[in-house]
Parts: sequence; structure tokens; C-alpha cells
Amino acid sequence: MNDARAAFEETYDVVVIGGGHAGVEAAVAAARLGARTALVTSALETIGQMSCNPAIGGVAKGVVVREVDALGGVMGRATDRATVQFRMLNRGKGPAVWSPRAQCDRGLYRRAVRTLLEAQPGLVTLQGTVARLVFDGARVVGLETLEGRRIGARAVVITTGTFLRGRLHIGTTTAMAGGRAGEGATTHLAEQLEDAGLTVARFKTGTPPRIDGRSVDLDALVRQPSELAEFDYRWSHFSAPGDPSALPQLPCWLTHLEAEGKALIAAHIGESAMYGGAIAARGPRYCPSVEDKIVKFPDATRHQLFLEPEGHDTAELYVNGLSTSLPAPVQLAILRTVRGLERAVMTRAGYAIEYDYYPPTQLDPTLRVKALDGLWLAGQINGTTGYEEAAGQGLLAGLNAGLAALERPPLVLGRETSYVAVLADDLVTRGVDEPYRLFTSRSEFRLTIRQDNALRRLSGVGEALGLYAPGELAQVHRRLQAEDDLRALAERTSIQPSQASPVLSPPGENLPAHAVKVAELARRQGVSLHALLVAAGVDAPIDREAAVTAELELKYAGYFARERQAAERLARLSSFALPADLPYDALLSLSFEARQKLAAVRPETLAQAGRIPGVSPSDLQGLVFEVERRR
Ligand code: FAD
Repeated sequence: MNDARAAFEETYDVVVIGGGHAGVEAAVAAARLGARTALVTSALETIGQMSCNPAIGGVAKGVVVREVDALGGVMGRATDRATVQFRMLNRGKGPAVWSPRAQCDRGLYRRAVRTLLEAQPGLVTLQGTVARLVFDGARVVGLETLEGRRIGARAVVITTGTFLRGRLHIGTTTAMAGGRAGEGATTHLAEQLEDAGLTVARFKTGTPPRIDGRSVDLDALVRQPSELAEFDYRWSHFSAPGDPSALPQLPCWLTHLEAEGKALIAAHIGESAMYGGAIAARGPRYCPSVEDKIVKFPDATRHQLFLEPEGHDTAELYVNGLSTSLPAPVQLAILRTVRGLERAVMTRAGYAIEYDYYPPTQLDPTLRVKALDGLWLAGQINGTTGYEEAAGQGLLAGLNAGLAALERPPLVLGRETSYVAVLADDLVTRGVDEPYRLFTSRSEFRLTIRQDNALRRLSGVGEALGLYAPGELAQVHRRLQAEDDLRALAERTSIQPSQASPVLSPPGENLPAHAVKVAELARRQGVSLHALLVAAGVDAPIDREAAVTAELELKYAGYFARERQAAERLARLSSFALPADLPYDALLSLSFEARQKLAAVRPETLAQAGRIPGVSPSDLQGLVFEVERRR
């Protein structure tokens, strides 16, 4: 560790290392705060690159995209410019659990992200592979690139994804260093961070082969058209109307891996990098390799495979469901057992990658490394998997790095506010023992944390931090006002039975003989507020998404009230601060296990302490007693 401050070519408030999904959100968030920010990444062309499937969103993840957007992020805006196929998952279960998912044009997405970064005032993007951090004692004060550039920083955010000591595997005999296919691994920085005292562990993940769409018999497959026009969906609250519909939509195709393919995998399982002993690290449970599926579900007769477009500029298709690290010739043979792929040309082989991550209990709730000053970590290096999880952490780390550099108080979001907060709290409080992915079940507030109401939940924070440009702030206020106006309109507008009847399912069901308020009927399950207002003759334009939020607030008022009470209880517990220097070893009224776990995590609040596995309600009571005794 040395002090090379004098030699810096430039000093920024915040420097972000890495231009993946965590890095770009971190950089934009810091710059929106007003921090002078630089993003330094190995290749400017790969900013916003999707390492695996070019798809954004899905269950819980789709909500994160909207939360990141509500705080000024780029993921939603870029998705709006690159969507080539859209599906609303969970649509049969009603708008409270709708989960948007977009298939993107990979190249367009990347270019959209880069364009958005370059449009951000206060942010520069620099090409360079960071070789080492520069320390002043235990404080990070800058970095040095392999190319010899030295850049100073008040705060640094590392977001290097799968690149730290990354190792790619295909079969048991082909292994090479790399951050992802075709890109070098990052070794020097990994070694330095370990030397600096960070605990390091290894995880793995994998990707499927890609095929040439021109070699596929599409007539033999089930076509899945885009639902974009039907939902008129925009990921970003700030995208101009018509942004997404500018792109022609493409279908996905459904086929299956059947008995012949399964038998081939079983016969070659010993040649898989994951099963042949080449990789010992643990992989994502919910994005399993096809080898995993065969071993864990031997009785399943077939497995779904989705052929997903990679973009408008290529015929290449992504074979979703066939992530594998078998030898390339075996992958091709498996592909050719699949209906429609009998003559498939494999453009790229699938592979597995193992990489360093830093167990995230080493971080505080702002994702700052506790042991080193001025350093934040975000994304896959914290043991997560997925673009959206990376983006959510990037946002939080970037905001906090910016706040620290500007000497402003940190931002810790309560779990009741967002999946971003749930993700960060789970990581730093519980840690990970397999790649962490978000699910709705991770949140105790999943009815009130939805994709439609991200602005309602987070724009107060955004406004207080000063994240919005003036035009954007006006858009936020317009949207929230539209929700309030629609609820008031529903409460005062009457609808005649003859008008309401066709909107109900079945038509006319349990309809009173007299006129009723629209709000009363909108409280029924399966009835759309938008449709009722149109049927009642309201001719003013109705914001479709504001109508969804207003409708849900009417339908689930009772449930929402209970979740909001629970949120208030949690907020009270969260305001009970635990001193950073509490001598847990000496708190003998607590169980031995609780003392050990509390000392390791050093929670900042009673609420966080309560979420540490092994800390019981009676330990919490003991903690309150001990803290009050010391006041
Ligand atoms: P990344 O997107 O990896 O970005 C890291 C960035 O850091 C890159 O821009 C890189 O160039 C830059 N960088 C690295 N080292 C340096 C350095 N020393 N100096 C400067 N810049 C540097 N997720 C899923 O949800 N499901 C999956 O099935 C899945 N499969 C995957 C398969 C593979 C093969 C890979 C590689 C990833 C897979 N992922 C999957 C994970 C997904 O890609 C990541 O979760 C996501 O991209 C993480 O974002 P990030 O910003 O943390 O890192």
C-alpha cells in the first residue's frame, strides 16, 4: 500500500470500476447526485454487455428494474430502446403479481446504455483495465490501470462481475482464464484485494450454446409472439410514449429436450466440467445446468427449451434451458436430438465459469467494505447472480459512494421500501451460500412492493437526494397525481348496470338493479378499473398504468393496510440504533450463538439484528436491555 496521490492524472469524487449492470447504475447514480464521476472499464464497447441471455425482468427482477428506474437508473430506459419480445408473466394471477420480462436486441441494449451514460452530465467513461487500487493507509484514494493511467478518487466502487480470477470450462479438458467468453480475467486486482484482507470465495455459473436460426425448422416449433402492443408497456417511467414500439417485435420459440437428448447427457455426464470434477464451486440453484436437471429430476420426461432471438441484426438464437459445460461435440449432438434442431448449426458452445466473490457480510448496509475506507462493492462480486440484482446493488453503492464523497449522510433503504433494500439487507445480514437471486418470497412486503408502484415507493427518496432533472420531477408528480385523481374519479363516478354488465366476468354477475359507484365494482376480483371508467363514459385520457395502481389500491386496501402497519413496526425497530462498538462477547444475557453471530455482522439496528439467523426474540430483548443500560 503506497501513497501515489501526487501522480494522479485527475481526481474524481467517485470512480466506478467495471461497465456491467452494476457499474453503469453506480456511475449514473453518483453523477445524478452531483458527484464528479468516472467509470473505468476494460473495453468501452462492452459497456452494458449481457454476459448470458439478453433478457431483462421476470418475477421480482422486473420490479427491481422499475425501482432502479424510479431512482434515475438506466436499465429500464435501455430496455425500452431494445425490446424485441415482451411477455407479462403471471398475467393469469392478476395485476398485483404481474411480472414484465423483455427479450432484448443484445447490441442495441449495449449501445443504448453507452448513449445514456454519455448523456449523463458529470460522468465520463474511460477505457482501462484496473490493475490495482492505491491506498493511503487503510483508505482507498485511487487506482492504477494496466495501461499505466493513475486516477484519484474520494470513493471507489468495484463492480467487476465474473472477471476476478475467472476461469472458463468446456468439458473436463478445456479450461482457460477469462472473465467471460473472449475477454481476459482480472488477476492483479483480485490478488491485491485478498492481500488487503478481504475474505474470498468461489462460485460458478454457466451459459447455453447458441445456434444459427437459419438452420432451425421453425415450423416444427411452438411460436410465442410478443405481448408488447397488448400491454403498451414502458419499463421506464421517463421513456417517451412510443419508445418501445419503435422496434418491430420478434417471436420466441418453444421446443423440448426429450428422452434421446437426456440419455446422451447421462452417457457423457463424467465429461461435464461440473460433474467431472473440474469445478468444485457452487452454482445458481435456480438457473441450473442441464446436467443438474438430468441428475436431480431423472423422472421428468422432457424439459422445456426456449429459442430466444439475440437481435434484429443476427439470426443467432439463444437456447434457454440448455446451460451446459459438456464438451462441444456432445453439445452439438444433444442439440440435434431436439425437435426442430435436427440440422442445427451451433454458433457458440455453452460453457461454465468459476470466479471469485467476496462474502457480503464483509459489507455494511450501504455495501461499503467495513474494513477499508472509501471502498464499495456491487454486483456479482458480492455473490449474487443476474443483471437486475447487479443493477440494484450498483444503484445503492453508487448513491452511497457519491454521498460519502460529497460528505452527505448515507442512504439505507428499509426492507418495506423495495426489493433493492431486501437484496442489500439479505446480503449483508445473512450472507450467501449459493449465488443469490431475488424471488418475491424473499420480501415480507410483496403485495405493497410491485412493479406498478415503484415511483410511489421511491420517488420521495429520489426527490430528497436531488436525483431528478427538472423535467423528470414534473413527470414523477404528474404520474402520482394521476393515481390520486383516478381513485377520486372512481369514488365519485356512477355507472349504470347496463354500462357495467359487459365489463364483468361473466357479464352482469351479481349486479344491483341501480347505478353504483365505479370504485365499488372495481373492488371485485378480475374487474378492470380502466374498463369500468371507459364503460361509464369517462372520455378524458386515462393513464393505463396509473389506473392499475389505483385499481389495486381499491381491491386490496385491507391487505395493504396490514402490510403498511408491519412496515411501520419495522421502521420503529430500525430506528433503534445499535452502537458500532457494542462488546457482544461480554453480553452474557444473550445466547452464545447470538453473541458470536452479532459480533460477526455488527448490525446497525435492532431490526437488522433480528434478521440474523440464530438471533432469537429473547436475544433481542437482551440487546435492548444492554443498550439502554449503557446509555
Ligand atoms: P458484469 O456484467 O460481469 O460486468 C463486469 C464489468 O467489469 C465488465 O464491464 C468488465 O469488462 C469489467 N471489468 C472486469 N475487470 C475489470 C478491471 N480489472 N478493470 C476494469 N474493468 C473491469 N445470470 C443469471 O441471472 N442467470 C444466468 O444463467 C447467468 N449465466 C451466466 C453465464 C455466464 C457465462 C456469465 C459470465 C454470467 C452469467 N450470469 C447469469 C450472470 C450475469 O451475467 C451477471 O449476474 C451480471 O452480468 C453481473 O453484473 P455485474 O455488473 O456485476 O458484472
